[in-house]
Amino acid sequence: MLNVIIFGPPGSGKGTQSEKIVEKYGLIHLSTGEILRNEIKEKTTIGCKVKEYIDDGMLVPDEIVLKTLYFKAIEYADSAGFVFDGFPRTIVQAETLDKMLEKRDIPVDVVISIEVAEDELFKRMMGRAEDSGRSDDNEEIIKKRIEVYKSQTLPLLDYYNKQEKLISINGMEPVNRVFENISRAIDFYQNKKEILP
Ligand code: ADP
Repeated sequence: MLNVIIFGPPGSGKGTQSEKIVEKYGLIHLSTGEILRNEIKEKTTIGCKVKEYIDDGMLVPDEIVLKTLYFKAIEYADSAGFVFDGFPRTIVQAETLDKMLEKRDIPVDVVISIEVAEDELFKRMMGRAEDSGRSDDNEEIIKKRIEVYKSQTLPLLDYYNKQEKLISINGMEPVNRVFENISRAIDFYQNKKEILP
């Protein structure tokens, strides 16, 4: 089992890189943003509850995200592992994930932080706004999502750094180059796991 967290601000390329990781390592992609957007599309009870938060660029309450993710993850309990994309986003989510995985003796292996300058994030998201069809891809909400990331999600870097699982990757390079660096990081942590008792 291999559990990878792909971490970074909105617009850093988490989704693109997650898909490449999934393809190479045969893992299951769990994107909380995608899962929640799907709930909205399907007009489920969860979807109705989360729509306002997402449209407003705010984080969805932890208990809703955790419950939704939990039910998705158990569908794939026998998989080779997961790529968590856009999750965790708060300390409570990270602590709960650790507890859930520790119980099954399958901890988070590596947290890959994709680093991109703020003006570039903004440019990328504004550039894709028309095609994305996402209700939260407009100037005001994009700015808010970046601020929410800085205040509520960035502190997680310290949380995972203390666990010695954090690796930073330059996300300003071309997609394939970023992916090579990510693959190298995953291979390194995977080997470490095999060598250590
Ligand atoms: P991005 O990283 O570009 O903001 P996501 O698809 O990861 O895109 O998230 C879109 C929105 O979904 C967030 O702004 C937030 O409202 C909600 N969301 C996604 N994941 C979480 C999470 N782990 N905790 C709380 N809210 C979340």
